[in-house]
Amino acid sequence: MDAALELRGLQKSYGDVQALGGVDLTVPSGSFFGLLGPNGAGKTTLIGILVGLVRKTGGEARVFGHDVETDYREARDRIGLAPQEFNVDRFFPIREVLEHKAGYHGIPTDRARDRADEVLKRVGIYDKRDTRFDWLSGGMKRRFVLARALITDPDLLILDEPTAGVDVQLRHELWETIVDLNQQGTTVLLTTHYIEEAERLCDEVAILDSGRVLDVASPEELMRRGTDDVVVELRT
Ligand code: ATP
Repeated sequence: MDAALELRGLQKSYGDVQALGGVDLTVPSGSFFGLLGPNGAGKTTLIGILVGLVRKTGGEARVFGHDVETDYREARDRIGLAPQEFNVDRFFPIREVLEHKAGYHGIPTDRARDRADEVLKRVGIYDKRDTRFDWLSGGMKRRFVLARALITDPDLLILDEPTAGVDVQLRHELWETIVDLNQQGTTVLLTTHYIEEAERLCDEVAILDSGRVLDVASPEELMRRGTDDVVVELRT
């Protein structure tokens, strides 16, 4: 079976700044995979390349065997992204926003509402379906962004720091939802600054620093090895 994600010598430079300096990485299908690294390590750039927002300057990136540039549509259709920055239409009820998103991805109008309702229930904010994004609490906003990522029923769910700045209770609730999705077969790629989050959730973790993969191992193994300063830095 194709890996969910296969990166070979992936490079990205922004002018003189090298954000990715030749990343090799395989994310097995069905796994819960963590991408850890300090600020500026290149995590957001890597995700941007996968979803077609950033153009790589070298190497290869494949999603379930589809090259992210030459087979853009096929690769993109398999990915659901919950980004770090919310970029949501704030003035419409959230159910409508999801219906639009479904339509954009080719889901027929008569299915779009059902699909929107399904994902709102999935993340536990169905009762807020007629509320504007602006009026949701911070935690509900997080849930909504997850719902939006799920609208196409993706095989690879990319979560860019999904619990940054949320309280402990909400963090645990979000974890539960994400673990459940993974157990039902969705591959999850999670970026985080919280080593505890990686320890709790991930089968395998890659440590990215200055655009390079320093190590790939289970969280337990990384902690045992005390892998490097990056982990120590993430702990503090
Ligand atoms: P964070 O955890 O802070 O979000 P990150 O690991 O996601 O960091 P990136 O945002 O991918 O890291 O940044 C990697 C490097 O590329 C950094 O040095 C950053 O300053 C640089 N960079 C990112 N985007 C651009 C851009 N559009 N133009 C120039 N440099 C950029």
